[in-house]
Amino acid sequence: MDVLQEYFPTKSIKRAEARLSSILYKEQVRLDKISLDLNRKKAITQENLLIELPFILEFTASYHEAFMEFLKAALPQHQVKIKCGPHCGNCCHHYPMSIAPFELISFYAKIRESEALFTYMNACFFRVEKFQSLLEKLKNEKSNEEQDLEELALHSFYEAWHACPFIKTNESCNVYSYRPVTCRMYFSETSPEYCVPKHLQTPLNRSFIVYLPDAIEEAIDEITKHYEDLNLSESLYEGLLQMNALEGKVFYGAV
Ligand code: SF4
Repeated sequence: MDVLQEYFPTKSIKRAEARLSSILYKEQVRLDKISLDLNRKKAITQENLLIELPFILEFTASYHEAFMEFLKAALPQHQVKIKCGPHCGNCCHHYPMSIAPFELISFYAKIRESEALFTYMNACFFRVEKFQSLLEKLKNEKSNEEQDLEELALHSFYEAWHACPFIKTNESCNVYSYRPVTCRMYFSETSPEYCVPKHLQTPLNRSFIVYLPDAIEEAIDEITKHYEDLNLSESLYEGLLQMNALEGKVFYGAV
């Protein structure tokens, strides 16, 4: 059962939140200045993406680091020891959503030099097709029902048990240091054997998601607006394919 987890605002949580807030604020000011200088509403465009890339990489790394500090402050509040550990990878069978554009850009910038890029893109394509076909099927079957079809499609995708293309054979993440926040916020108080489709929505499974405080989410939304011209998907796999399509326009000649 995925449960939204909220935490008591201890000193360490407040400190971690303040750090996140300050990192996001600085980035917001930076992006606002760029858009002002360019006389545009949005700071990041295809034309300046390569110039902005080092700053985006640096900001994303700081944001991830601050999020990890937030986790370090929040997770000890659980009465039960978290059962997640290395070499599990069960939650890496979800269809990763809610990826911020700066995370997507940083992720693609890191994998684009990999010899496995072609394999990765093929695997992402397969998963996007699979997810879209599940969604279409649900739309046809449940057109009159007031249900969140995307939620249902996400669940069906998990049931189909396709591992993330970035998972290694030992079930650890191949891109661990730059995995997006959506991959960092999922935990379980119960044994990994219950983090499988059969048990996911039963009382045997006590998995939970660590959400960021609302003010932090709002600050991320504001930064995200500066990337709207790129029209990037919130889905990891679809977004990486979009970035790959921009390869010739944006990254040609980049080291
Ligand atoms: S990017 Fe890494 S952590 Fe995220 S789903 Fe893929 S293998 Fe898992």
